[in-house]
Amino acid sequence: MGTVQGVGFRPFVYRIALSLELLGSVCNTSDGVTIDIQGPASKLKKFRSTLLSEAPPLARIQSTEVTELPTHEVKSFTIRQSKSLASSSAQISPDIAPCDECLGEMRSKSNRRFGYPFINCTNCGPRFTIIESVPYDRPATTMKTFELCEECSTEYDDPLDRRFHAQPNACEICGPKLRFFPSDQGGKPIEQTIDSLAHGKIVAIKGVGGFHLACNARDGKAIANLRKRKMRDEKPFAVMVGNIEEAKKFCNISETEGKLLTSAQRPIVLLRKRDDCGLPEGIAPRNKYLGLMLPSSPLHHLLFHNCPTSNPYPLVLVMTSGNLSDEPLAFEDEEAMERLQNIADAFLLHDRKINVGIDDSIARDMVGRPAVMRRARGYTPEPIHLNFNMPHILATGADMKNAICLTKGQNAVLSQHLGNLENAESCSSFENATSHMEKLFDIKPEIIACDLHPDYFSSRYAESISKSKDCKLMRVQHHHAHIASCMAENDLPNEKVLGIVLDGTGIGTDDTIWGGEILVADYETFMRAAHLTPVPLPGGDMAAREPWRMALAYLRGMKKPAFKGIPSEKIELVDEMIEKGINSPMTSSCGRLFDAISAIIGLRLVNSFEGQAAIELEQISDGDENGTYNFSIEGSRINFSATIEGILEDLNSKITLPTIGGKFHNTIVEALTKSCKTINNSKVCLSGGCFQNLLLTQKLKKSLEDEGFTVYTHSLVPPNDGGIALGQAAIAAHIVLSK
Ligand code: ZN
Ligand code: ZN
Ligand code: FE
Repeated sequence: MGTVQGVGFRPFVYRIALSLELLGSVCNTSDGVTIDIQGPASKLKKFRSTLLSEAPPLARIQSTEVTELPTHEVKSFTIRQSKSLASSSAQISPDIAPCDECLGEMRSKSNRRFGYPFINCTNCGPRFTIIESVPYDRPATTMKTFELCEECSTEYDDPLDRRFHAQPNACEICGPKLRFFPSDQGGKPIEQTIDSLAHGKIVAIKGVGGFHLACNARDGKAIANLRKRKMRDEKPFAVMVGNIEEAKKFCNISETEGKLLTSAQRPIVLLRKRDDCGLPEGIAPRNKYLGLMLPSSPLHHLLFHNCPTSNPYPLVLVMTSGNLSDEPLAFEDEEAMERLQNIADAFLLHDRKINVGIDDSIARDMVGRPAVMRRARGYTPEPIHLNFNMPHILATGADMKNAICLTKGQNAVLSQHLGNLENAESCSSFENATSHMEKLFDIKPEIIACDLHPDYFSSRYAESISKSKDCKLMRVQHHHAHIASCMAENDLPNEKVLGIVLDGTGIGTDDTIWGGEILVADYETFMRAAHLTPVPLPGGDMAAREPWRMALAYLRGMKKPAFKGIPSEKIELVDEMIEKGINSPMTSSCGRLFDAISAIIGLRLVNSFEGQAAIELEQISDGDENGTYNFSIEGSRINFSATIEGILEDLNSKITLPTIGGKFHNTIVEALTKSCKTINNSKVCLSGGCFQNLLLTQKLKKSLEDEGFTVYTHSLVPPNDGGIALGQAAIAAHIVLSK
């Protein structure tokens, strides 16, 4: 079992069998691959060890099972046709960036696929995005409409060929083709695209998982134009460059970051901008980091490769997802041309249908360890292998940064990032993803897990499915799920750990809003050991969008600094809401504490995208600062009132913002470390959206380790709500199995 289909595993088995002169057959089944083999014992032993040690690059062998059979008559070793079985737990590979061999062929004038934008082989190419059903065979993919030409067909049928049973196999003659729209100017689609980009135009480019909106990243005017048309004020844009040498001209790149950039998954990697970066500020305003990626499809490579050498600089592209502000990504030609018509000046299209739309993944170097912040293209649907068995479970996650999780045996499959479930489009992509993944992995949920929040779309969906399918519904507390998710991906046993969960919002068992929690938890139960002292959340969700509201909540009874640009009537009104408790539920959220500090020091009063105030606070903070502010621990409550007073004093004495920010980070770290020391447990899991903050994660991890704690962080799944479904599933599985 493992990822053994569509990754060249059968030809690999065939080659070893031939070289060892063994007889039998290999075939894909819905549970993996079955090999029937006979020959001398010593050769069989050699066969087995080669199988395990030299598997193809994309194959993941999770388990093998050996059964002895009586010998039967066979004359050769053959690859048998896939069996269409009802049960299917064989895994489907994610979409993989073109391999070096394919790129070499694409660039070689004498090769028949010279310049062909859809070149692929069993080691690379589209997978998850083109698969409609299982077992993974060409008729079950969107490639079914392209009939293989003679040469492609010969490759496809030859067990010794790199393209043996490569389902998306294609060439210029028989495969998908590019199209440029509007088509009036003439010229080849790639050249027309490069030409449009060079003239400051915005081009919608169809990639692996959907459309990107692209423009020349050196052209400040084009970038401003894209922001205006896409209605995206300040949220950073991602940038694509041709290769890692180019990337090094703009950003400093660590070893871990280099590996992430060039990995087959090809995520957007958050990299520190160089001082001499030189790209327009409009790409990522006031941001020390740049989201950078390398080409993830042959088409992208051709854009960079074919850029005329007469250009003064190599091509650098802004590549942002093809959508209007918060809508899901467009991935179908007609739909994209309609939805993006007022944003894009032109379209680079092709006729290979994308069956499942999927965003770019985002990853970063988190204290020397690669960490996924948004899990999508390249990662989905690679299962997360857990050290315990699970029944069939569907966990529906939370409403922000939603991803669902399906489990079976020791595998947990997370869906791609599905966005915030706050509009009809996102909700319907949630429903589609759920039923598609259930079908692909043949999972018929016996248990549905969801968040404790009754009003989440994901919770209501879980409730209705559990009723209509008559299966058990389990509601899991948000922060408990965060911790279980961290425990599960770190292979921790079902024993109590300390969990520090710092995030924006999650409903607690007392119906207040939690988010700055120290829990003592295992996979079944948890206890709230400590938390931030709750403050009012004036205006509910509005408070997350307008950090100055949180500043007021934290500044009760203190002298307030001026909030530039916020009308005084509005301030008075919110003050009154806080005093009278009108629409101001109590919250212990740590995300909101970061917001408050950001507003108090005048850094950001109103967010133009989620998390902006906290991100900017991290970015201005001096990581070398050693100072701290006062705080107090009162029973299970961690109170930062004295911290706020200290910050006001510092502002008065004209202490710089980087120093204040650095001291604030140190204070949080000290308070949490001190709280953990009062609890008798040496393992700490860190989870929640605040741990996207590198400075906080780095400092807290070090501080806890200095005190003798073993610290576990996220790597495979995001620390934010994108990883929460995994925790929900782990908890549901343990509770059910313990009964
Ligand atoms: Zn390849
Ligand atoms: Zn062909
Ligand atoms: Fe959360």
